[in-house]
Amino acid sequence: MLRTHTCGELNITHVGQSVILCGWLQKSRDLGGMTFIDLRDRYGITQLAFNMDTNAELCEKARKLGREYVLSITGNVAERSNKNAKIPTGDIEIIVENIDVLNKSKTPPFTIEDQSDGGDELRMKYRYLDLRRNPVRKNIELRHKMSIETRNYLNGLNFVEIETPFLIKSTPEGARDFVVPSRMNEGEFYALPQSPQTFKQLLMVSGYDRYFQIVRCFRDEDLRADRQPEFTQIDCEMSFVTQDDVLNTFEGLTKHLFKVVRNVDVPAFPRMTYAHAMKFYGSDKPDTRFEMKFVELNDVAKGKDFKVFDDAELVVGICANGCSEYTRKQLDELTDFVKRPQIGANGLVYVKFNLDGTVKSSVDKFFNEESLKKIGEKFDAKAGDLILIMAGATEKAQRQLSELRLEMGERLGLRDPNVFSPLWVVDFPLLEWDEESQRFFAKHHPFTSPKTEDIDLLETNPGAVCANAYDLVINGVEVSGGSIRIFNRDLQNRMFKILGFSEEEAKKQFGFLLDAFEYGAPPHGGIAFGFDRLCSLFGGSESIRDYIAFPKNNAGRDVMIDAPSTISSAQLEELRLVTKI
Ligand code: ASP
Repeated sequence: MLRTHTCGELNITHVGQSVILCGWLQKSRDLGGMTFIDLRDRYGITQLAFNMDTNAELCEKARKLGREYVLSITGNVAERSNKNAKIPTGDIEIIVENIDVLNKSKTPPFTIEDQSDGGDELRMKYRYLDLRRNPVRKNIELRHKMSIETRNYLNGLNFVEIETPFLIKSTPEGARDFVVPSRMNEGEFYALPQSPQTFKQLLMVSGYDRYFQIVRCFRDEDLRADRQPEFTQIDCEMSFVTQDDVLNTFEGLTKHLFKVVRNVDVPAFPRMTYAHAMKFYGSDKPDTRFEMKFVELNDVAKGKDFKVFDDAELVVGICANGCSEYTRKQLDELTDFVKRPQIGANGLVYVKFNLDGTVKSSVDKFFNEESLKKIGEKFDAKAGDLILIMAGATEKAQRQLSELRLEMGERLGLRDPNVFSPLWVVDFPLLEWDEESQRFFAKHHPFTSPKTEDIDLLETNPGAVCANAYDLVINGVEVSGGSIRIFNRDLQNRMFKILGFSEEEAKKQFGFLLDAFEYGAPPHGGIAFGFDRLCSLFGGSESIRDYIAFPKNNAGRDVMIDAPSTISSAQLEELRLVTKI
């Protein structure tokens, strides 16, 4: 090794030892008689001391070194007179005897400090420098710990890690595929996997019984904030299991990660049906760190000549405790919030239960005090509470109020990133009707099994069929999702038919899976965790980018290597993507 110690490990017990350290020059301070350098590596910072009186030549040399120079120094560990209790090496410094400059550095375009002065784009362009900063390094190390612990835990349960191919076949379901032209097969394309779904199911047919893979997936979706075109899943599949077995196994993994990574013990995860989640939270990924449950108000809100309520399919509200003192301005802010195009509501009705016992609302013209109190009773509202009401088509009103609920939770400080509230959402609908294309889509994916008791409804009332599908939701974030699969060719065929595939199409796209089902497919089910998001949640951040070493920006670009990029006409010709003129 070029060094005897790291920059994070020397302390008072090493005083008097001769050491060699290597690292980057973080900062230097020239105090006339003395010069100090902070030397940094992955493990910490050690102070180097140079004395003008005892070694003027070396001191002069030290003063000329710039930020981020790579140094190797030899010296003796000495107790500091000015101790720094904030860092583990703060009791000591190195009286340097020799410096070797291993490499120079240009002045970095932003400061390599916890609070950098560099903007997002600049730090992305010089990501290798950004990765030197402590907060980023800690995130990457957290990710490492999460993946090692996941591997160990699943290995302990007999899961086998198996790699599945990246160059596969494009399929019409799900998101858009990234495609790769095949040079050797003119006019044909591979697709990058959106997930290893069909392969892991085939592995069950092959008898591997418990599979997992920490695997990159690719989806060419329109970019929303904090989505990455390539992302990582902890992908898993098990044979001979019920839904409960899968939930228990992965609740175990999640709890293990909470314990070893965050040192928190979380109680058993509650299980909530999709229908319940929609009715009381307006979302299939409810943030249950706080209550503020929806209350449906049709019976007390309709029939008062207020057209907005009378015409609505659903009138629904939430009660924000202690917010009756909200000012006109604050209420206007909330109204503007729900009217933003992303939410798209027409307006917001409020009822204030004032501290002096009076009741005031934005619909006083239609609702007398008694009617308003009736609304209040539905929420058990007390003096000091503010009720916020929305109305419209059921799903739309629920979705809009859900956004408002989250906003109120945020405003009231009820969404602490260090509090974790996991739950399983179960019993999802199997299918989702798409107005535009006038057809059903699989809500999860086409391989998810319907509940046995609903199979008869598949052709007669497909919209009412419940699936053996589940999501793990933590703090309003969908952390993982999976299902018990169809493992019978006939049922799978029926499912494809409902999804609008002709027999030939189904055969062409998924013939390999249908065929495999005829060679002794065991009952099986699985799950996949969004690993980047899981890491960001454990790290207490909203941004998944911070947990990916080399992420893409919001436009899907890697601004460091400048990808995507054009390719040469020779390459295009070789791939037969253009014809030679
Ligand atoms: N492959 C599914 C997904 O990526 C997860 C699963 O069903 O296991 O969402």
